[in-house]
Amino acid sequence: MTISAISGHPAKSGSASICRGCWDQMHMPIPIRGPLSLPFRAFGITRSKMNPDICTICERSFQYVKKQRYITAGATILFADIRGYTGLSERIEAIELSRIVSLFHDRAAQAIWENDGIVNKQMGDGLMAIFNFPITRKDHAAAAIRAALEIQRSCTEALAELDTGYTLGIGVGIHTGDVQIGEFSSFRSDFTAIGGVVNQAARLESQAAPGEILVSLETTLQAPELMGGTEARSLSLKGIEQPVEARVLLVN
Ligand SMILES: [Zn+2]
Repeated sequence: MTISAISGHPAKSGSASICRGCWDQMHMPIPIRGPLSLPFRAFGITRSKMNPDICTICERSFQYVKKQRYITAGATILFADIRGYTGLSERIEAIELSRIVSLFHDRAAQAIWENDGIVNKQMGDGLMAIFNFPITRKDHAAAAIRAALEIQRSCTEALAELDTGYTLGIGVGIHTGDVQIGEFSSFRSDFTAIGGVVNQAARLESQAAPGEILVSLETTLQAPELMGGTEARSLSLKGIEQPVEARVLLVN
């Protein structure tokens, strides 16, 4: 167990010796690396695919530990996907398509983990990430924006190197607020986040052009230091009557 893990200071991503989710949520030291983790592994408790610094207990904590179906928590939700993917998937070979999709997922996950977020869902060419659960961070809005900037930087570079003959880009949407986090299915045992904030983040992402990060006003208010030089944009989003104000972040 490292001192940084016990005191709650962020350990470097992918290096914590105890599960940071179990520690932040329940103050339970669950070993996930090193010799102490071996007996836990024998009982099927391993590192989570959502983030290598959390464990599979975190994924099922609602049913087995918390004994409640869901909680309401402040969080930042990030959606990202490959823009123009549907058209692309009809025009190029399956093998080329799978290279593009795995490149995106690998790089995006790395950027999210480095900022203490979790990749909660992967949907073909897209993903949904949660910041501030189960690893807690007061600056979760800024963490999500930093992850988005890194996703754009690393994916743009790698996609250009692939030389597919198509101009490919990633779109990202970010929104902050109270979400319901829990296990909402009787046949799946992992958690997710639901609610208006999640829907709004998804809608913002759907409006992002390749290379753009659309950030809601609620998120920008929590991370003003990252908003210098950004453009304001008024969006009409599906299902919402009033235009929604957002900020556009571009990676140079
Ligand atoms: Zn855990």
